[in-house]
Amino acid sequence: MPDGPGARAPGRPDARRGGAAALRLDAPVQFLKGVGERRAELLGRLGIRTAGDLLRHLPFRYLDATQITPLARARGAAVGAEITVVGRVISTGVIPTHRGLRVFQAVLQDASGLIECGWPGRPFLERSITRGQLLLATGPVRHFHGKQLQPREWIVLGGEDEEPRGQVLPVYRVTEGLTVRQVRALLDRHLDGLLAGVVEELPAAWRAAADVVPLPDALRAVHRPETVAAAEAGRRRLAFEELMLFQLVLARARWLAKRSRAGIRFTVRRDLTTALRQHLPFELTAAQRRCIKEIVADQTAPVRMHRLLQGDVGSGKTVVALFAMLLAVENGFQAALMAPTELLAEQHAATLTRLLEPLGVRPELLLGRLPAAEKAAVRARLETGAARLVVGTHALIQGDVAFHRLGLAVIDEQHRFGVEQRALLAEKNQAAGPDVLLLSATPIPRTLALALYGDLDVSRLDEMPPGRKPVRTAIRGDRARVGVYDFVRREVAAGHQAYVVYPVIDETEKLDLKAATRMAAYLGREIFRGLEVGLVHGRLPADAREAAMRRFRAGEIPILVATSVIEVGIDVPNATIMLIEHPDRFGLAQLHQLRGRIGRGAAASHCILMLEDGARNPAAQERLRRFAATQDGFAIAELDLAERGHGELVGARQAGAVELRYADWSKDGDLLALAHRLARDVIAADPALSAPGLRPVVRQIGRRFERGLELFRAIPG
Ligand code: ADP
Ligand code: MG
Repeated sequence: MPDGPGARAPGRPDARRGGAAALRLDAPVQFLKGVGERRAELLGRLGIRTAGDLLRHLPFRYLDATQITPLARARGAAVGAEITVVGRVISTGVIPTHRGLRVFQAVLQDASGLIECGWPGRPFLERSITRGQLLLATGPVRHFHGKQLQPREWIVLGGEDEEPRGQVLPVYRVTEGLTVRQVRALLDRHLDGLLAGVVEELPAAWRAAADVVPLPDALRAVHRPETVAAAEAGRRRLAFEELMLFQLVLARARWLAKRSRAGIRFTVRRDLTTALRQHLPFELTAAQRRCIKEIVADQTAPVRMHRLLQGDVGSGKTVVALFAMLLAVENGFQAALMAPTELLAEQHAATLTRLLEPLGVRPELLLGRLPAAEKAAVRARLETGAARLVVGTHALIQGDVAFHRLGLAVIDEQHRFGVEQRALLAEKNQAAGPDVLLLSATPIPRTLALALYGDLDVSRLDEMPPGRKPVRTAIRGDRARVGVYDFVRREVAAGHQAYVVYPVIDETEKLDLKAATRMAAYLGREIFRGLEVGLVHGRLPADAREAAMRRFRAGEIPILVATSVIEVGIDVPNATIMLIEHPDRFGLAQLHQLRGRIGRGAAASHCILMLEDGARNPAAQERLRRFAATQDGFAIAELDLAERGHGELVGARQAGAVELRYADWSKDGDLLALAHRLARDVIAADPALSAPGLRPVVRQIGRRFERGLELFRAIPG
C-alpha cells in the first residue's frame, strides 16, 4: 500500500485491519514500514522519535466531511459554499490559464450527476488522481468557466466495492517536506498495530470520575474519528491524563512542603501589626482586610504557609505583605522581601521605610551592587538577628547570606523567579520552614491559577484602593496623531510625564527594535523638540535600563520610549500618559499591564491606543473597544484567555511552568478543577502513590517530569 498522495482513506475501524500485529511503541519510528531515514528525520523535527510518539501526534483540527452533497445538488450550490462530495473520477486533465497557472481538473460522477473539480497550480496531481478512483473532495464552490469545486482536501476512498460515505479528516501539524496527507496515511497504515501495544494505565475509578473513555479508544477516536464529537471525547481523555499527572505532582509537592517541615506557629500579638494599622495614612480596603485575614490564618496555623497573593497592579499588595512581615517580626522572627530588580527593591525599601518610621522599625536593603563593606554589614546584621526586616534582590539567596531566624519569605513579582529560586529563599531557615508568600500582578483566570500554582493557596485582591482616578482609554487613528502629540506636549508642559510604547513581536526581530530606536530619535528631534526623550528596550544591559528608568522616575526625563519591557510594578505617580503604538500587536493582558503603569497619582491619566488605519478592521477595533471599556484585570485576563488560548497567555508563559499538549484552557476548566480535587484526595489517601495499582502512574510521572520520581521517593507516605 503506497503512502503517497494516493494513499487509501482513513475512516473505518473495519475488519480488514483486525488482528494487526502489535508494534513496539518504544521502537524508533524509522522501523515502521513507510518511514525511511529521510522521513524519520522530518518526523524528528515534529518531536516524533518513537512509534509511540507518532501515535501521540494528535491532529490539531478536523475537517468534517461527513455530510455528503449529491453531485446534482452540488452544482446548484452557491459560490463560496463549502461542500463535500463523493464521486467516481471519469476524466482528468491539466489546462493552462492565460496567466500561466496550470489547473488540474477531474470530473466526478455519482448516481445523480457530474461535477468538475479544479486544483489551480497543482498540475502534478495528475500522477495521484486517476480515472476510476472513488474520490472524496471537500472545499468551496468557485466560479471557473462555470461552477467548479476547488477541494481543500481530498482522499481516494477504498476499493471498487466501497460504498461512498463521508468522513472526518484529521489534520496534522507537519513540517517542510512532509505533507498532512503523508502523516495521515502513515498513521492510518499503522494505527491498529500501534493501538495493539497500548495499555490502559489509569485506574478505572479515576476514569469514571472524569467520565472519559479508555486510552485505546481515545487514541483511535482522535486519529480515526467517526464524528468530530468522538474525536473531541478522545482528546478530552488525553487531556485528563495530562492534567491528572500534573496535579498529582503539585499535590505531592504541597504535601511534602506542609508535612516535611513543621511550620512556625505565630501568634497574633497585636504589637507591630496594630501599630501599623494605627499609623497607616489610609484605610485598608475590604479586599486587603480579607487577604490579611487569610494570610494571618495561615501564619498562625502549625503548617507552613504557601500562599499566592494575586492582585492587579496598584491594588495594594505591598501593605498586605507588610502586615504579614510584621506579624513574623513581632513574634521574634525575621522577614524578607525579595524583588526581581534593584529598582523595585529600592522602591519597596523606600515605601517600607516611610510606613515603618513611626513604629521604630528600620528595613534593611541588600542589593548586589552595594559596596562590599556595606553588604557585609547587612549580612552580619541578618546573621545576628539585629536586622529584623530586609528587602533585596537575588542577593538575598546567595550562599553567603545566613539568617538568624527567618520566619517569612515574601517574593514580589513571583513569576520572574524560578521555582527553585523561590524555594531557595525558604531554605534559608533550615530549622523550621518559614512561611512563603508570593505576590503576583499578573491576574490570571482561576482555572489557570489552579493549574500553574496548584500547590499554593490563592488570595485575590480584587478591589482597588478608593480615590483612584480611572485611566481613560482612547483608540485613535492616523489622522489624530498630530492632536495626540499636542496633547502629550501639553501634559508635559503641565509637569507630567509620558510613556510611548512600541511592540517587539520577536526578540530576534531587529526591525522592531529599530522602529523604537528610530522613533525615539525622531520624537526627540521633530515632535518634542527641546524635551529629552529616553529609551529603554530589552537589548539594553540591565543596568543601563535601570539607569534610564531611575532617571524617568526622578522626573529628569519627561518622555520615555519603550518596548514592552517597562518594569512591572514600577511606580511613577507623575506619569499620566501611556501612548501605545500598534496596540493590535499586543495581547489584552499585556495592554492591561502597560496601562497599569499610569493612573497611580492624583492627576487624570490617559491610555491612548494608536491604531493605524491599515490595521483598523472591525475585529481589531472591537477587541480594543472591549479592553477600553473595562479596567478589571481579571475580566481582561478572561478575555485574553478566550482570545489566545493558553499558549500565548502572558501569565502562563511567564510562569514558565507547564507545557500542556492536550489540555486546552479555554475548554478544560472543569476537567482541571476535577483533576485538582481528585489528585488532592489521592495524595491525601496515599501520599507516595505506593499502591501497586498506581505503579504505572508513578512511572509515567517519572517519564514526564524531570525530577518527578525523586519527589515521590523523597519521603515515603
Ligand atoms: P501593587 O499591588 O501594585 O504592588 P502597591 O502596593 O504598590 O500596589 O500600592 C499602590 C499604591 O496604593 C501605593 O502608593 C500604596 O501606598 C497605595 N495604597 C495601598 N493600599 C491603599 C488603600 N487601602 N488606600 C489608599 N491607598 C492605598
Ligand atoms: Mg507591587
